[in-house]
Amino acid sequence: MSNSLSITSDLDKAKIFECPNCKQTIDTASPRCRFCSASIDPQAAEAAAVRMARINRACSDASYLKIAALCAPAFLLIFFIPFMTLLGELGLIFLALAVPVWIALWCFRFLRVQTDDLDFRQAKGTVFIVAVAWAILVGLKML
Ligand SMILES: [Zn+2]
Repeated sequence: MSNSLSITSDLDKAKIFECPNCKQTIDTASPRCRFCSASIDPQAAEAAAVRMARINRACSDASYLKIAALCAPAFLLIFFIPFMTLLGELGLIFLALAVPVWIALWCFRFLRVQTDDLDFRQAKGTVFIVAVAWAILVGLKML
């Protein structure tokens, strides 16, 4: 039941990585790349697999963050439905508090990851856009 709990359990299970030679996704258990037959250093493979798992995690966390941020307009609509005002307000308050925490956590965990992975760069862009949008919304609310 602790499977979904922590980031470390994901990283421990990391068993796939990108072949340094041909960039195909391969298993860390095999001594040779099954695509280009380059020999695989098990230690380097393990490290690469952990890094890849971290990148994947960064990408999925970023997309959850985006989904959460996209809930804000929905809560804003709910806010204007009679008798639903409280629910809308609670949702907005929750997001207003949770989104910056989430952004900070993401940056803390993943910002130092060194990679030229395209998906990771996109994830970073998503987090940046959410952060800017959040700052603008909070700024507007304070006016
Ligand atoms: Zn290969």
